[in-house]
Amino acid sequence: MNKLKIGWAGLGNMGTPMALNILKAGYELTVFNRDKDKEQELIAAGARSAKSLQELASHCDVVFTMLSDDKAVKSVYNETDGLLSGSKTGTLMIDMSTVAPDTSRYLSALCKTKQVSFLDAPVSGSVQPAKEGKLIILVGGEAQDFEKAKPILDVLGKLALYLGTAGAGSSAKLAINYLLGINIQALAETVLFAEQNGISKENMLTIINEGACGNGIIKLKTPAVLNDNFPPAFALKYIVKDLKLAKGAGLNSPLSNPLLNTFEAAAADGLGEEDLMAVIKYLKSSS
Ligand code: NAP
Repeated sequence: MNKLKIGWAGLGNMGTPMALNILKAGYELTVFNRDKDKEQELIAAGARSAKSLQELASHCDVVFTMLSDDKAVKSVYNETDGLLSGSKTGTLMIDMSTVAPDTSRYLSALCKTKQVSFLDAPVSGSVQPAKEGKLIILVGGEAQDFEKAKPILDVLGKLALYLGTAGAGSSAKLAINYLLGINIQALAETVLFAEQNGISKENMLTIINEGACGNGIIKLKTPAVLNDNFPPAFALKYIVKDLKLAKGAGLNSPLSNPLLNTFEAAAADGLGEEDLMAVIKYLKSSS
């Protein structure tokens, strides 16, 4: 059994497989999720359940959060009944959610007032790499805290990269998700354009994937496009969130605004809970 006691708040699509990997690596794990049903898989695998965020923080040496968005993270950290109401001096908090760099800096400063350390450590990679412990983890904060966290991060990812002070991980995450959004919309538009001119999506996807344009994300989304079925690995509402955060962090490049407009319109069309590749349905219906 590894000595550090680990806490985990947020057992959604990503948090569940990541927390399971912490358990499998032999750490004592305590979990907290708002919807208690989602704790059952972890409890069955050997985790204990905390009654409150306060209890989670008071019991653990290192506490991970993997939550929807900035609002959720701020409320979970809050000082009245959240993590920071229970944390001890020297606790290390690691937020792996995708949030604004400003939010990461705010949380870092808030933690400092409680003598608590903080790392922003968002991830690149979706549910499958999360299950396989092959995420890419983008870290901002103090270098010494990164060194402390590294053995645990190595359980979750194939690469944990230290990028600089608080907020650096979140900045890098927004940049890589911009490229993700571009890839997804470009794939959707290419397949629809080909179909419009009599080329089947099967043939077009073969052409893409056999050549240099067939990158990892396109290969990953090929079955969804072929089957016209988009169960959420990365929900479309979350790319809207991330593109808005990127805009808030200064992204104003030629492709960025039309990209955000498209995904926002797809979400408004009722596709927010489907995988982001479902943007192809919106583009097809609106062409
Ligand atoms: P998800 O399945 O929607 O899970 C969200 C989690 O946040 C749930 O545990 C939810 O609790 C919790 N939560 C939301 N609001 C809360 C609040 N106010 N208080 C307490 N808990 C709250 O999301 P996900 O797909 O795991 O993504 C989590 C984060 O990782 C997001 O920031 C996302 O952008 C990022 N991310 C996702 C992927 C991906 O492929 N899915 C990849 C990389 C990064 P309940 O169960 O109680 O609602």
